[in-house]
Amino acid sequence: MSHVFPRHTHRLPPRAVRGQGCYIFDETGKAYLDASGGAAVSCLGHSDPDVIAAVQNQVAQLAFAHTGFFTSGPSEDLADLLIANAPGSLDRVYFVSGGSEAVEAAIKLARQYHLERGDPGRRRLIARRQSYHGNTLGALAAGGNQWRRQPFEPLLIEVSHIAPCYEYVLREAGESAEDYGLRAAQELEDEILRLGPGNVMAFIAEPVGGATIGAVPPVPGYFRRIREICDRYGVLLILDEVMCGMGRTGHLFACEAEGVAPDILCIAKGLGAGYQPIGAMLCSKEIYSAIEEGSGFFQHGHTYLGHPVATAAGLAVLRKLLDADLAARSARMGERLSLALRDTFGQHPHVGDIRGRGLFIGMEFVADRERKSPFDPALGIAARLKAAAFDAGLVCYPMSGTRDGKLGDHVLLAPPFILEDRQIEEIIDKLARAIAAALGQDG
Ligand code: PMP
Repeated sequence: MSHVFPRHTHRLPPRAVRGQGCYIFDETGKAYLDASGGAAVSCLGHSDPDVIAAVQNQVAQLAFAHTGFFTSGPSEDLADLLIANAPGSLDRVYFVSGGSEAVEAAIKLARQYHLERGDPGRRRLIARRQSYHGNTLGALAAGGNQWRRQPFEPLLIEVSHIAPCYEYVLREAGESAEDYGLRAAQELEDEILRLGPGNVMAFIAEPVGGATIGAVPPVPGYFRRIREICDRYGVLLILDEVMCGMGRTGHLFACEAEGVAPDILCIAKGLGAGYQPIGAMLCSKEIYSAIEEGSGFFQHGHTYLGHPVATAAGLAVLRKLLDADLAARSARMGERLSLALRDTFGQHPHVGDIRGRGLFIGMEFVADRERKSPFDPALGIAARLKAAAFDAGLVCYPMSGTRDGKLGDHVLLAPPFILEDRQIEEIIDKLARAIAAALGQDG
């Protein structure tokens, strides 16, 4: 008997024992096509020899050196390579162990930046509904997913939530995408004015919404307007690319497609590609200077900051992404997968929307296509889809948006960038079987 504390105590998962390319094998030898990269993590698949060698070499050479005393070669090289490829004036990198830690660091850095500049009133964070920024208390407070927040609500810092940019559900009939984007962004200005600009510290959003909304890209112009509003009121823009960054959407950083650069950028998942737990917060020169010229010390820290083995893995991953231009491959294979999904499921009576960017694709399931009405949450459609796909040997990431009252059930596909055409066929085939099993043959 195992003493592992599983995610669901009443449903024990199979034991994974081996990874090869896009596949994970359990102890019975069953193969699972990892069509969601876990949760948009395994961008290079499960057996990349270069990343494995980088990890092995680093652990043999120097496993750990505390950042209270030392820096390390892999951390410096990874920071340099990230900044050389980062948008805007992003200039410094703070390494952490995952996405939630990156968001926590971003929130604290935003606060400290305003303090260093003698603007202590700025403490309010604005975020979006149906968002996810992590499960630690600060990151959970930023997130707008009611189901995740509800039990811990009394412990959370106060955060305002505006509507997400969610064209499929929130764009009105007859409204152009551009007009809708301006209307959605206007909510930010309204909220800043309601709170009083001198009280607002930062706005946080995912460029392409992931874990609770299902790969939702913004409409054109939305983030440019968001950037203008932040600048107008001295509010920092934090972009959370924990899920959508590192080539996932067809650009190294998802915000590049919007022509917008943040003041603070959070990345994780694809940065370590699953070979090591690592995340990072990147900040602008201006923010770093405020700390440097002020107290000189970002009042934060964890034991495993800049862990040499984790940063060595990140460096090997990033080199691979850049050398093989895997972001472009993500864009290309994403197009093909989207096309195949549309061909097969585009007319399905319960598939309301197929959307995404690169190999970051969401399918939204609805009870009624015309009215875009979600299924009754009691039906547990997302959970049924996950179970049926898993039985068929397909790992996909289902989410029940109905927990937030409005949205449908989703499936998120985020396979490794090394995906090949035959695996697209396998995804379609297994998903078709899973959808038939979960929803019935007639839809
Ligand atoms: N932000 C986003 C956008 C995420 O998708 C996630 C994880 N799903 C997180 C933050 C939290 O990352 P982690 O689970 O590594 O703490």
